[in-house]
Amino acid sequence: MSKNKNCETVKVVVRCRPLSRKEEATGYESIVNMDVKLGQVTLRNPKTPHGELLKTFTFDSVYDAGSKQSDLYDETVRPLIDSVLLGFNGTIFAYGQTGTGKTYTMQGQWMDPEKRGVIPNSFEHIFTHISRSQNQQYLVRASYLEIYQEEIRDLLCKDHARKLELKENPDSGVYIKDLSSFVTKNVKEIEHVMNVGNQTRSVGFTNMNEHSSRSHAIFVITVECSEMGPDRQNHIRVGKLNLVDLAGSERQSKTGVRGERLKEAAKINLSLSALGNVISALVDGKSTHVPYRDSKLTRLLQDSLGGNAKTVMVATLGPSSCSYEETLTTLRYANRAK
Ligand code: ADP
Ligand code: MG
Repeated sequence: MSKNKNCETVKVVVRCRPLSRKEEATGYESIVNMDVKLGQVTLRNPKTPHGELLKTFTFDSVYDAGSKQSDLYDETVRPLIDSVLLGFNGTIFAYGQTGTGKTYTMQGQWMDPEKRGVIPNSFEHIFTHISRSQNQQYLVRASYLEIYQEEIRDLLCKDHARKLELKENPDSGVYIKDLSSFVTKNVKEIEHVMNVGNQTRSVGFTNMNEHSSRSHAIFVITVECSEMGPDRQNHIRVGKLNLVDLAGSERQSKTGVRGERLKEAAKINLSLSALGNVISALVDGKSTHVPYRDSKLTRLLQDSLGGNAKTVMVATLGPSSCSYEETLTTLRYANRAK
């Protein structure tokens, strides 16, 4: 029997990247084992002499180091995009420690068709669907924003330093005041929007890597479809897709971190733990209270998490023995969300 209605709307999957050349050269070995058929990950504690301490977790799917971008897309992402095209909301998150493959999973390498990630694949999917439709008319709009230290910024606006406000109105729910959005007619146009935002992200900050590991990047696609009904009236349905590359989940509050850095660390942890709490409450199904209001991220995504919306969380892992503690933390977070 079905446990709760959200077990089909929230999917949690885990992906492990290959051991990097550097890790290999340093002599680190892989401590992550995956059983793709069973959807299980087994983590070996490298500190015990023979690695006898094993922990096993089960997820909706797992993707090992040999998995292809298309494996994840076809099995896990495609159904979500299809439901957005039918007028439902959907959200895909990449969650994990910096360097484990969040950006690789969401964006990948655009020039190599085999290595294109969730975002370029969903662009292709959406516009292929539209080009094949006969009796519907579509309007696709894109926005791109980031949340850094609980502040929202528009990545598509010239004045990128400006902080935007979250507002709420009884009809349309939560929205970002003055967030820009662009109508895009094909893959090329939406890719251009994405590139502009990525550019802003990379030049707007002195240390791009550090900045991107501490901020949440959210690309939002709104798909509006209008169709003549049997009643000869035009019917409009709107689906919204949020593609989210989260801040690195590594523990920020290490000793020696003070002042601004400590405040910043607390805020990054706040959004990620709020997100964990929301997803866990949704999956649990018995919770009467879903704590959306606890962070900007969860408030902003409120209408796209739970209810009729579909959610996919991709938790990314590195395989190396040097990141045992962080990998275990990620698996626990994802397991709680499951
Ligand atoms: P994050 O965004 O989580 O900080 P990245 O996506 O930048 O991590 O990935 C770190 C490095 O690992 C990059 O060089 C990336 O190309 C590589 N990488 C990540 N995941 C994979 C994968 N599944 N297959 C091959 N290389 C990967
Ligand atoms: Mg990244």
